[in-house]
Amino acid sequence: MNFSPNADESLIRDAIRDVCAEFPGAYWRELEASGEYPADFVAALTRLGWLSILIPQEYGGGGLGVTEAGIVLEEIHRSGANANACHAQMYTMGALVRHGSEEQKRRYLPAIAAGELRLQAFAVTEPDAGSDSTKISTVAERDGGHYVINGQKVFISRVAQSDLMLLLARTAPAGQGASRSEGLSLFLVDLREAGGAIETRRIPMMFNHHTYQVFISGLRVPAENLIGTEGSGFRQIIDGWNAERCLLASEAIGDGRFFLDRASEYGRERVVFGRPVGANQGVQFPLAQAYAQIEAASLMRFKAAALFDAGQRCGAEANMAKLLASQASFQAGNAAMLAFGGNGLAVEYDIERKFRETKLLEIAPVSNNLVLAFLGQHELGLPRSY
Ligand SMILES: Cc1cc2nc3c(=O)[nH]c(=O)nc-3n(C[C@H](O)[C@H](O)[C@H](O)COP(=O)(O)OP(=O)(O)OC[C@H]3O[C@@H](n4cnc5c(N)ncnc54)[C@H](O)[C@@H]3O)c2cc1C
Repeated sequence: MNFSPNADESLIRDAIRDVCAEFPGAYWRELEASGEYPADFVAALTRLGWLSILIPQEYGGGGLGVTEAGIVLEEIHRSGANANACHAQMYTMGALVRHGSEEQKRRYLPAIAAGELRLQAFAVTEPDAGSDSTKISTVAERDGGHYVINGQKVFISRVAQSDLMLLLARTAPAGQGASRSEGLSLFLVDLREAGGAIETRRIPMMFNHHTYQVFISGLRVPAENLIGTEGSGFRQIIDGWNAERCLLASEAIGDGRFFLDRASEYGRERVVFGRPVGANQGVQFPLAQAYAQIEAASLMRFKAAALFDAGQRCGAEANMAKLLASQASFQAGNAAMLAFGGNGLAVEYDIERKFRETKLLEIAPVSNNLVLAFLGQHELGLPRSY
């Protein structure tokens, strides 16, 4: 086992730090106030090719793995920025790369890699199904050379900032197949051609995130935009979920490091009762505890990513990485809030913004309760709880 960063890792970290230095806290605070999308930040990452890092080189992408993509996201978050506006451009690609036809890959991947097309939206969640994704009721019915799709999705991020959207819909009634995940199919929807068949409504969130209710009525999708096999869509997206968990764990680790960097600096400099506040064990120990948790989560993240990149099973590791990292970053945020005292709540220090942002990672893309249920059932052999 080699725990030292390799040359590639250091190069990636330095390059991302350089890009993010152009988007300091003031940039994010302004967007937070206006509620606008960080278009310039996303354009910079796109221009430099960071968002196509997971697209194979033969289609114009970076041809790197989830390990490297995680380092990119970690550094973005460590800088105080937020990759929520564009991280799906990385992990949505997996479904197309692994299950798309050669024709689909040639049609879309080079244009995405060149920054001409955005595949930023992934529509799974529905209001009546929630975490129980196999219960979704959005329906796709075959009509000649098309599928006609009707239904409703919720919390679909970046749909208004995307040209293409992956969508999971039911092509066979629930309960007909051998398992409950059968009968769901994956489609690549060209949002530019959807016209009035798709209506979106932004959901105001506790931080500047662009997520939407999506109402789908009579959407006609060419049959050639079905990804993989009809009825197997759920299984096709599950392996992509492991990549997503590794990547979002990396974001949480980046958030955690942001909190610790800032709070340690503040703890050294802010003097009260004649000594730096960080000398007090009540301030120092929660930070040190969170540091240990972040380091442990980071090891699990690298293990999960290495397994994923080697094509090996990594469900437990990817889930544990996401669980541990989201808990660690929340702990680090809490410790930082404490270290900053009143300034932790003041907008200009960015701690309160990051604290609100990092909370999401306990809940999405999968809630930590569901992660624990997965581990209990699959790793410990305990009875299924849902
Ligand atoms: C900002 C944001 C962005 C999102 N972006 C996307 C997106 O782009 N695409 C997309 O498809 N979805 C997206 N989601 C949806 C996200 O994946 C879900 O919110 C998440 O999976 C939880 O589902 P839910 O909100 O329906 O909670 P519910 O399923 O209603 O669960 C509510 C609570 O009950 C708990 N719970 C439920 N069942 C069990 C059980 N059996 N055992 C123990 N606890 C249980 C859950 O852990 C949770 O705490 C996003 C959500 C947010 C908040």
